Amino acid sequence: MNKKIVLVSVPRLDPAPQANLRFLLKKLQDANIDSEIFDANLDLYKRYSDLPSWADIERWGIQQQDRQNTSNELWQELEKSFSLWAEQIINLHPTHVGICVFTGESRNWTQWLCYHIRKANPDIVIVLGGKGINKPGRPNADFGEYCLSWNLCDYYFNGESELELVNFLQDRPCIVNNPDTFVSFNDLDLSDFVYYSNDEYQLTSKWYDQPINVQDKLLKTYSTRGCVKKCTFCDVPLLRSNWSMRSPQNLFDEIRFAIEEHNVRSIAFTDEMINGSNKQFLAWLELLANYLEKNNIQDFQWESQFGLKSKQSIPTRTFDLLDRTGAALTIGIDHFSNAVLDHMEKRYKQDDIFWFFENANKPKITYKILMFIVGYPTETLADFEIFKNGIVELFQYQPQIQAWDFGQTCSIPFGSKLSKLENIELGAQQVDWYYHNNPTLTKEERLNRLSIIDQLSQEHQLNLTRAKATSLRVESWTQQ
Ligand code: SF4
Repeated sequence: MNKKIVLVSVPRLDPAPQANLRFLLKKLQDANIDSEIFDANLDLYKRYSDLPSWADIERWGIQQQDRQNTSNELWQELEKSFSLWAEQIINLHPTHVGICVFTGESRNWTQWLCYHIRKANPDIVIVLGGKGINKPGRPNADFGEYCLSWNLCDYYFNGESELELVNFLQDRPCIVNNPDTFVSFNDLDLSDFVYYSNDEYQLTSKWYDQPINVQDKLLKTYSTRGCVKKCTFCDVPLLRSNWSMRSPQNLFDEIRFAIEEHNVRSIAFTDEMINGSNKQFLAWLELLANYLEKNNIQDFQWESQFGLKSKQSIPTRTFDLLDRTGAALTIGIDHFSNAVLDHMEKRYKQDDIFWFFENANKPKITYKILMFIVGYPTETLADFEIFKNGIVELFQYQPQIQAWDFGQTCSIPFGSKLSKLENIELGAQQVDWYYHNNPTLTKEERLNRLSIIDQLSQEHQLNLTRAKATSLRVESWTQQ
């Protein structure tokens, strides 16, 4: 029997095509495996985002509420979606369904969708993948094991599945149902990522036939995978220890194709640190800048996570190229105290931060989000004062800054360098910890510092990103 796999994107993500899922689709199609994408996330967004029940639907996923804590009214709406999606997926006649559990906030969505697919057609093989099958920051696939134990899935892939899923569907040896080890590949070749037509997404597909603002003329893609740094609080190096990148020409070809064939004017990169390699980064920026100028394209913009570095490590022509190509950067500045930055292993100092902002003060460079960490384990009151002063110092760049993100105080992923500090006690959640070497930094004190920053933000009318999602997460944490 010929196999067919339907790849499913479940809520709750930005309502846009998922680059990783498309990359996976391409690998499957290159191997002549019948496959297509079903985007339940986008469907939910289209049907509910303008309705009053949207707030409760978002809360349900963000706080990972269970059936008992869900009102009957909301449950009826959710069940309607799960049955509808199961029916639509089954109508695509798959032998396999592959669900991408993007984060921990996709878990309850996944398990109830699995349940409805199983109920409607128990013969379909259900396969799970994505970072959400792991406890955040842990290599252990606790959610994969949970779903297996309840027969909600048949298999899961713990780690990068592009190669393994192909092997699996071709009945070749592969790593599957591996609870303890996150699989990642050194040799995953991103350079063969051929540019694609957006037709299969927002333009003609039945799921993207009514483009919504964020997708309109947007290309979602990536240039690199992984990160070259190993900051102490971050789970990226834990989950993806390898760094890989596309060739500048290959990436530029994809962008040019999107511009010429689909009139794309905006790119969202899903990179963790797009400028990990200056050589690769500046090379495709140069190609793009020259192309935009030659074709007199003025309204172009791209956005990505970008890594600050020391001034010695950022060539000055970077700023010119960021400006010429319309960069909207998301930057994890994290702190302003050199003691804290050193401890975080950020590899830059306070004066590097201000040097960067001064040089990047150009008409077409904007900051999509500036991210910070309040209440890092070693943060003293003096560090916190430096932090506040640093925030105030950045107010002068407010016209360039679209949003600020102060998070929900410092999270400590299991396995990270922070989790191995001597004298740190870890609780059930990543934000639950106590560091004996900094005894006054209790949970209450961390929340107190966060509220001081909230107040400062209100006084200066800062636009806080994901404020709603963050406050829902903090609410769920403080109720523990
Ligand atoms: S630069 Fe960003 S992605 Fe890379 S390790 Fe540090 S925090 Fe993580």
